[in-house]
Amino acid sequence: MIHKEYKTELTGVRYLSAATYEASFTRPKNFSFLPGQRIRFSAKTIQRDYTIVSGPQDDRITLCIHHIKDGKFSGIFASTTPGTQFMFTGPHGYFRYFPSDDQAVFIATGTGIAPFVSFVHDHVRGFILLHGITGPSEQYYKEQLISAASLYIPCFSSRLPDRQNTSAGFHGRVTRYLEKNLPSGKYHFYLCGSAGMIADSLPIIDERFPESKVFIESYA
Ligand SMILES: Cc1cc2nc3c(=O)[nH]c(=O)nc-3n(C[C@H](O)[C@H](O)[C@H](O)COP(=O)(O)OP(=O)(O)OC[C@H]3O[C@@H](n4cnc5c(N)ncnc54)[C@H](O)[C@@H]3O)c2cc1C
Repeated sequence: MIHKEYKTELTGVRYLSAATYEASFTRPKNFSFLPGQRIRFSAKTIQRDYTIVSGPQDDRITLCIHHIKDGKFSGIFASTTPGTQFMFTGPHGYFRYFPSDDQAVFIATGTGIAPFVSFVHDHVRGFILLHGITGPSEQYYKEQLISAASLYIPCFSSRLPDRQNTSAGFHGRVTRYLEKNLPSGKYHFYLCGSAGMIADSLPIIDERFPESKVFIESYA
């Protein structure tokens, strides 16, 4: 399928944690998307996809980007002056929310939280959310997510210094929470983020939550 190309303008950047920032852009007049979809930027021979964090009715397009040290593209917006123009194609992808009587469980690592924030902008409520991050400083979008979720569990993968050990959350990876803490049952699982988390989660879901449905968006 040929995707239309759109011109946009960077309107601002704000850091959400030491290595993760939000980049905002003007929304081209005729560009629409569904929550969970992404857009694609090209620079010379490389292409990079970023999931839209903002809602389908917002007049800005917002992205949540992990700035990878030595990465070819992920730092580009953070080092660009607002007003600079970019081209993108989209919307791409099929990672969408499907309402169901089965409890939705959203599982994200890092910036894999992006589609779930867009779902919240689109009034999705009552989900269980596991957010895999290294520590409390990466709980971006926490307030919005807490108010929309029935259960919000940040899962801290790093050993935290003693003074941070009291932070509300689960101390361990999202996969450990799935294995040990999520009550057995039939769920709609939505997994987004690292390929490793997705590969490790699938056998646990097969084993512990038979008949559940799984929707996947891999950032690898
Ligand atoms: C469907 C899809 C949606 C995506 N949505 C988002 C999004 O919303 N936000 C976002 O930040 N990214 C997202 N990505 C990832 C994004 O497209 C880029 O791959 C990422 O920003 C790295 O690009 P780069 O050119 O800076 O790094 P590269 O130059 O491609 O990679 C540099 C090195 O960093 C490693 N690396 C890659 N990712 C990470 C990571 N997360 N942490 C540490 N090391 C890493 C690579 O293995 C490589 O060795 C998405 C990817 C896909 C496929």
